[in-house]
Amino acid sequence: MMKRKIIIKNIIITLIILILTGLTVSCGFISQQSSDRQSPSDIDISDRDIADNEINNKDDLNEEIKSEEQAPEDLPEEPPKPTGKTTLTISVVGDIMAHMPQVDAARQDDGTYDFKPVFQDVKPYLEKADIAMGNLETTISNYEIGYTGYPRFRTPEAILEALKYAGFDVITTANNHSLDGVEFGVENTLNKLDEYGFLHTGTARSPEEREQVLIVEKNDIKIAILAYTYGTNGMEAAVDKEKLTYMVNYLNDEARIKQDIKKAREQGAEVVIGCIHWGDEYVRQPSDTQKQIADRLFSYGMDIIFGSHPHVLQPMDRKTITDPDGSEREVFVIYSLGNFVSNQRDRYRDSGVILNLEIVKDYDAQTVGLGKIDYIPTWVHKYTENGKLHYRILPVADYMDQNLIGDAEQRIKEVWHETTQHLNNDQIRARE
Ligand SMILES: [Zn+2]
Repeated sequence: MMKRKIIIKNIIITLIILILTGLTVSCGFISQQSSDRQSPSDIDISDRDIADNEINNKDDLNEEIKSEEQAPEDLPEEPPKPTGKTTLTISVVGDIMAHMPQVDAARQDDGTYDFKPVFQDVKPYLEKADIAMGNLETTISNYEIGYTGYPRFRTPEAILEALKYAGFDVITTANNHSLDGVEFGVENTLNKLDEYGFLHTGTARSPEEREQVLIVEKNDIKIAILAYTYGTNGMEAAVDKEKLTYMVNYLNDEARIKQDIKKAREQGAEVVIGCIHWGDEYVRQPSDTQKQIADRLFSYGMDIIFGSHPHVLQPMDRKTITDPDGSEREVFVIYSLGNFVSNQRDRYRDSGVILNLEIVKDYDAQTVGLGKIDYIPTWVHKYTENGKLHYRILPVADYMDQNLIGDAEQRIKEVWHETTQHLNNDQIRARE
């Protein structure tokens, strides 16, 4: 009987201690909250340093209690909230093609492939960006299966080594050539992209991978990158029906696009980018369909659209839209980024841009939005040297006054005028 009473007494004492401890901790929390209201000008820097150190030991209960006993002016301060602005820069290019003459030109005497010289002149610009991205309009194959050009692109993995060398970080894989290597092509391309250390989006190896949204965080800004294509050239007929439900992101599945955008926001994306493969080939103006799709995607919550597929440049538009809740939001679309590299030599198909776009977070105004946008016109220089064919993507402004051989000197000047006249608008200009 006595023993039982002692046990009950002990339990009651323990409970009281627990309740008191709980009160003390919550008081500590409240007092810390109230210290937030203290004007920063009241605290000199040395005090703030001390406060910072104490915050580092936040999980130490004793520290919390000790700090409560200190005089009010010594109360620990939460780490100072960032002020001012932070910026994330994106550089994006259009279609990265690999026609057979390009693959042959990359072939070395020992049978290996080297595409790096193609990118050597644009590398300094791409490397500068926090995120450099582009549309890989081919699949990665291997020696056993073989390499092919148009109409079913299957390319040596050396192209990825070159894209890595050039400074690319994110590769989008949803385009009308996604299924050129059927199931193996999708899987091998993604395996190799992983191997070379790229982030990628647009195709998937499993239903689970399809459900993941690509979110990239840099400079304290979180962006989501999504990619969709209008179709896959009928190659879907050659792919297992079950696999087709997840392998390629199609643009006509707008319910899914809405879901992806929602998921991206739920995971903290402050900006949602859509890389959209669409439009009419070789047409320099966006179709009404492209414009309607763009407006719908914006209304679903997309902020930025990078278009590709027409193989020529199409204009851009930066505008303010009103969301259903009445709030305003600035959005951007470039309908087509043109060819970044290809063997297409016709006028307009031989050129493209590196589009540079800033995303700015203003800590004081608590906003994240578009900053400066400009672009670098590019042109693919195809030439023969010592009996060997070469392709090099040239930043037009850097090579306009160089003595390029043959017709190149004339053509690159034309490209500057064609591109700037077609793309420049009140808000967006070429980088001189
Ligand atoms: Zn395409």
